[in-house]
Amino acid sequence: MANANTTAPSIAIVTLGCAKNEVDSQEMAVKLARAGYAVTRDPEEADVIILNTCSFIQVATEESIDTFFELAGLERVVGGESKIVLAGCMPSRYGADLEAELSEASAFVPCSREDDIVEVVADLLPDRVPEPAILEPDGTIGANEYALTTAGDSPFVAYVKISDGCDRMCSYCTIPFIRGRYHSYSLDEITADVAYKVKSGVREITLIAQDTGRWGQDFEERSSLAALMDHLAKRFPQTWFRVMYIQPEGVTDELLQVFGDNENICRYLDIPFQHAAKPVLRAMNRRGNADAFLKLIAHIRETVPDVTLRTTLIAGFPGETEEQFAELIDFIESAELDYVGVFPYSREDGTRAAELEDQVDEEVKQERAQEVRDLADSISAARIADRVGKRIPVLVLGCEEDGQLFGRAQCQAPDVDGVTYVSAGKPGDIVEIEVTGTLMYEMEGE
Ligand code: SF4
Repeated sequence: MANANTTAPSIAIVTLGCAKNEVDSQEMAVKLARAGYAVTRDPEEADVIILNTCSFIQVATEESIDTFFELAGLERVVGGESKIVLAGCMPSRYGADLEAELSEASAFVPCSREDDIVEVVADLLPDRVPEPAILEPDGTIGANEYALTTAGDSPFVAYVKISDGCDRMCSYCTIPFIRGRYHSYSLDEITADVAYKVKSGVREITLIAQDTGRWGQDFEERSSLAALMDHLAKRFPQTWFRVMYIQPEGVTDELLQVFGDNENICRYLDIPFQHAAKPVLRAMNRRGNADAFLKLIAHIRETVPDVTLRTTLIAGFPGETEEQFAELIDFIESAELDYVGVFPYSREDGTRAAELEDQVDEEVKQERAQEVRDLADSISAARIADRVGKRIPVLVLGCEEDGQLFGRAQCQAPDVDGVTYVSAGKPGDIVEIEVTGTLMYEMEGE
């Protein structure tokens, strides 16, 4: 149903939350672009604004609501010329309740319905359905399709989701209720996604999911994350591969072997321990304890020298005593991790932890989180400073306003670990540098 209107409606996607949302936004943008819509990065000029929300904790939900009302206040939205679609985790978590609360939205698209985004937009603008784009033989709108549609800030880096959902049911977590049961994506799907991004000029691929270490275990013919990473690293030797969100149980010797065998796999492991005191971990419905985690860390460092380790920790979980918090502090001191993300416990409706007795006082939670933050930062700064004099490869990503080139090394994950300033190279190049200085998370080199 082609319409008389030649100017295709423009669609802007505003992405909040995690890297998984970035992937979902890019996939929605590709569908819309191939259907003939004009994808724009400027919500002010868009005919439809898709807000891809995050809602796993209260703070994220509040940010999504604030952003929604900011967009609802835009001139063209107020004037009725532009419509807002609320997508992602908030409609998945709150469903119909939202429609009453956020009546300014013209449509609500939970994660499970994002594949229908073209129909949703067509229903909103029935008189302006564009002619589908003329696609290249490879089915894309052109070699720059990824660069045009990525929600990320660089065309040289990309995330690839390898599974969705989670079955672990950690007692504080809402994600299983938002993203559903765990299911791996197939090897062919993932390989095709990587090939598409590599063909578009991407040099670094970060594999993501809620539970990356579980990849392939739900297949009839079981496989493993190690097999997947080995396959990708050998199939795309010019591309860096990184993996995030591996639960402790997912770090196998097979995986560490693959890290050692493939130069283009970043020697970087992000393992969310969440806590170290056994009673707290059990109340979180998680396994392990400080000793087991320290043994795992020692084994990883023995098997993969120069490995960079990141974790996530929660402070102030219900029932956490002074002694258990002290055990967490001792663990951080002994583990000496390179990077630590720390959250004060967030009491989330619908989770089992929210019903637990002995909720920790908000002030105490914040104090404990700050204490963990300060200690972890001091350890990170020292470990990063130890890199001075080392020769490392850096993927050049861009130029700052003052012309300073920057990039990231294999020991720096996107969006969380800072950048490296370099003196030569152009965006997309991988250059060898000698680290000459560091400042907290940032590095510089010749
Ligand atoms: S493993 Fe992660 S996503 Fe899954 S329930 Fe636990 S915290 Fe949530």
